[in-house]
Amino acid sequence: MSAPMERNVDRVLFTAEQIAQRTRELGATIGREYAAGDVGRDVERRPPIAVCVLRGALMFMADLVKSIPIHIEYDFICVASYGNGTSPGAVRLVKDLDRSIHGRDVLIIEDIVDTGHTLHYMTRTLLAREPASIRACTLLDKPTRREVDVNVDYVGFTLDSDAFVVGYGMDYRGLYRNLPYIGVLKSEALHE
Ligand code: IMP
Repeated sequence: MSAPMERNVDRVLFTAEQIAQRTRELGATIGREYAAGDVGRDVERRPPIAVCVLRGALMFMADLVKSIPIHIEYDFICVASYGNGTSPGAVRLVKDLDRSIHGRDVLIIEDIVDTGHTLHYMTRTLLAREPASIRACTLLDKPTRREVDVNVDYVGFTLDSDAFVVGYGMDYRGLYRNLPYIGVLKSEALHE
């Protein structure tokens, strides 16, 4: 760990190989369930749409869709928390989808479900557009931090601590997204 960026990493939680392996497993499960008709209607004729929640889920989504062995479309949505302290958990839409999801099977792709506010907002917003179905897939789940109840159908890894993680798309103040693995920052790197 001598490169300048990596000097601030305290420990690696999931290596690139572990992430790739788990992503392949998730992709196979998702493909199997949609193809079997467990989810959605007629995915042969109308493929599901993966909705990537920018920016953290970008890398996960890119790898995940390559492991899903059925036709799938994808689109992007960007949300942000207000962060003004007056309404904790309030989320706003920064960039909307480019296409209609009416009557379509939607798979929300998240990097991490923490308090649940983002996924709750996403589900509520997208459900109002009357898709045929909505499922959610997250690479990481931090159930101990949950503030609102959300349904997560596919989980890569469950974290039992509430450590702040970075890498593989996840950031601290916009940085560390390009680490190929997921790690925990040294405490002195936080608030730097
Ligand atoms: P939630 O709304 O609290 O569930 O958080 C969702 C978003 O917060 C995630 O999509 C991440 O972008 C960000 N987030 C939450 N925990 C972490 C973390 O440990 N590292 C990096 N980003 C995080």
